[in-house]
Amino acid sequence: MIIIRSKRKSLTLQIAPDSSIIVRAPEKIPEEIIHQAIQKKLPWIIKKQKLARERFVPVVKREFASGETFLYLGELYKLQVFLDANDPLVFNGMEFKLSGRYLLNAKKIFEKWYRKQTKEIINNRAKLYAEMAGLKYARISITGAKSRWGSCSFKGNLNFSWKLIMAPQRVVDYVVIHELVHLSERNHSRRFWDKVSVFMPDYKNCRKWLKDNGGKLYL
Ligand SMILES: [Zn+2]
Repeated sequence: MIIIRSKRKSLTLQIAPDSSIIVRAPEKIPEEIIHQAIQKKLPWIIKKQKLARERFVPVVKREFASGETFLYLGELYKLQVFLDANDPLVFNGMEFKLSGRYLLNAKKIFEKWYRKQTKEIINNRAKLYAEMAGLKYARISITGAKSRWGSCSFKGNLNFSWKLIMAPQRVVDYVVIHELVHLSERNHSRRFWDKVSVFMPDYKNCRKWLKDNGGKLYL
C-alpha cells in the first residue's frame, strides 16, 4: 500500500494497475483513520483488485525468435525466422516470416508492417461508415499512441493508433465509428452513444474488450 499525503481535503482510495492500493490523504490525517477507511471499503477493494489482476499484463520483452506469437486482428500468429530470406517481413495469412538479416531491426520492421495494415484497413472502414452515416472527415493519420486508440480533431482529422490493428475487426470498427460520430457530437453525451449504437448496437462489448485487453496490444 502506498500513502500519498498532500494538501487535499478528502481521502481517496485507488487500485493501481498492478492491483496495489494507493491512498491519497490529507497531510495531517492519522493512520488510524486511513486504516478504518480501508476496512470500510474492503469489499470494493477486493473487487477492484480482482479486476486489476485479470487485466494486468506484465510487459514481456520480445526477442523476435521463431515461435513467438504476434496479434493481428484479434488472432495470434506465429513467427518464423528464415536466415537468408530476402524480404524483411512477410505475412501469408498463417504466419509471419522474418528475414534473419533484419533481426536487429525487427521491432521497427514489425511496426512498419502494422502501420501499413492499420492505414489500409482503417481507411476502408472509415470510408464505408462515413458514407453510411453521411459524415465527412478531412484526413486520417496513424499514430503511435499507447492507450488512446483514436481521436478526432476540431478540423475533422481522425487519428488512430497502429496498435489498434492487433484488436479484433469488430473492435477496430467500433473505434472507427466512435471517432466518426465525434465529427457531429463532440462529447460523450447520451446522443453521442445513441448515434454510435445505430451502427453498432453491441458497442458496449467492444468498449469492454478494449478495457479488458487493451494492455495486451503492444509490440
Ligand atoms: Zn470519444
